[in-house]
Amino acid sequence: MVLLLFGPPGCGKGTQARLISNSLKIPSISTGEMLRAEMQAGTELGRMAQSIMASGGLVGDDIVNTMLAARISRPDCSAGFLLDGYPRTVEQAVFLDGLLRRSGFPPAIILHLDVPTDALVGRMTSRRQCPQCKRIYNLLHEPPKSPGVCDDDGAALFTRKDDREEVFRERLRTYDNLTQPVLAHYQDQEYYQIRGDRSPAYIFEEITGVLERRVERPVEQASRPVSEPLTC
Ligand code: ADP
Repeated sequence: MVLLLFGPPGCGKGTQARLISNSLKIPSISTGEMLRAEMQAGTELGRMAQSIMASGGLVGDDIVNTMLAARISRPDCSAGFLLDGYPRTVEQAVFLDGLLRRSGFPPAIILHLDVPTDALVGRMTSRRQCPQCKRIYNLLHEPPKSPGVCDDDGAALFTRKDDREEVFRERLRTYDNLTQPVLAHYQDQEYYQIRGDRSPAYIFEEITGVLERRVERPVEQASRPVSEPLTC
């Protein structure tokens, strides 16, 4: 099974990637993490990616595609894998489709974690960080014991620049502009939209349910469903 996980910044994609990877026993591959590892190791690829990543741009398709192709040819991917942060462009999506075909993998299944913008903004602008120990709090569900100060060292908490509302809204707009064409590319494929404005455990249960149901149904019937709105 090849899964592609999409979702805006702050939607909890990393948490779901870990949970899915553990439960299906397939590797979770984040191209962002791979690039950071290359940078830390000081490889040529890492040096090429460094300035682009620092400026917030996208690393070139050729570099990322080559890196990804090498990664999924490794033995731990033989039963499938989950991709997080890839494909980011239509060119990468077209490359991936061909790579999967040539390597004998089934077509990718798309899981799209969809969270209303206001819910994301609420979550991110409620984050506070301790300047000393770097611990992150969330005023909504993980507040410090005393307002405004770190539980561990008493330092005054602050809001990170990229968590400020306008900066974060701009990041979301950029994400939407880049991701819409990629999602459109996959509209005729097996595509599941999952509501992400729930607790991590609840979202994971829904993803598990979607994947289990699709095993029980022929692929043609399972394609293009949108998960039912949930009420609680
Ligand atoms: P974020 O969600 O904050 O962008 P990531 O860890 O997914 O974090 O990616 C960090 C950076 O790595 C991106 O801003 C981009 O420069 C680069 N990157 C990651 N994945 C890709 C990709 N598929 N194509 C091009 N660049 C990528």
